[in-house]
Amino acid sequence: MNDGHSIPQLGFGVFLVEPAETERIVTDALDIGYRHIDTARIYGNEEGVGRALAASRIARDELYVTTKLWNDDQGTQSAFDAFQGSLDRLGLDHVDLYLIHWPVPAQDRYVESWKALEQIRESGRARSIGVSNFMVPHLRRLLDETEVVPAVDQIELHPAHQQPETTAFAAEHGIAIESWGPLGQGKYPLLEFPEVTEAAAAHGKSPAQVVIRWHLQRGFIVFPKSNRRERMAENFDVLDFELSGGEMERITEIERAGRLGPDPARFG
Ligand code: NAD
Repeated sequence: MNDGHSIPQLGFGVFLVEPAETERIVTDALDIGYRHIDTARIYGNEEGVGRALAASRIARDELYVTTKLWNDDQGTQSAFDAFQGSLDRLGLDHVDLYLIHWPVPAQDRYVESWKALEQIRESGRARSIGVSNFMVPHLRRLLDETEVVPAVDQIELHPAHQQPETTAFAAEHGIAIESWGPLGQGKYPLLEFPEVTEAAAAHGKSPAQVVIRWHLQRGFIVFPKSNRRERMAENFDVLDFELSGGEMERITEIERAGRLGPDPARFG
């Protein structure tokens, strides 16, 4: 990343993982080999993530943990307090990456919040800082009005919605892209598209593995979510094949600007 730190490109996300199930599910993920966990205060499962990390006895420097500042906590002191709350629930003395979850332009506090994250990074309690759901105008304001360039922008990104303007701007400024909803959240039949199933058949892999591979080969950081151990293992088993240039292009051509989540210009 642009701050000199490394991030495992393939991780595990825990959005919509029930708090009561989180410890078991994250324990399974760690057992399969995942070392990068993406959570957020608003997911309500930081404690379960923390318990699984502690019980795993995996060395802290082999783990990569991301959490996020929720919209209601944007500000200066409120961001410091929210960050400490996340550390306490995770049972950690630092996270690897702390993100502003949404820009919420209507409340106009993301620049102020970013300055708080800069101080958190300075303190060493977040090794890297970044943003999520920031579009070009939001990124541009941070670049114009603050010191630290975000290490990442975590945005909705899957074959039907590739956000070319944001990814091009990010590339220009050395901001890594993290794809959320990488499998389309099961909300459209991405895994049945011929562009995907034909590549899967050609490589003896599943459609989900092909889509994850597409993200990796595009250079995106990706952390698909599943509650099911066999799918977690499937989604992690993507390092032994490579999509051809033609297969990559066909999947890229699926683009149809089909957003699944809220519009970052309005949400919050
Ligand atoms: P995803 O695209 O990873 O979809 C998850 C769903 O895909 C699962 O619930 C399951 O139904 C299906 N699935 C998973 N593995 C499969 C397989 N091998 N075969 C068939 N179906 C499979 O969506 P997501 O969980 O929303 O996104 C991944 C992560 O991104 C989240 O867990 C979270 O960490 C992060 N995220 C961030 C934001 C944000 O605003 N920053 C928003 C949403 C998600």
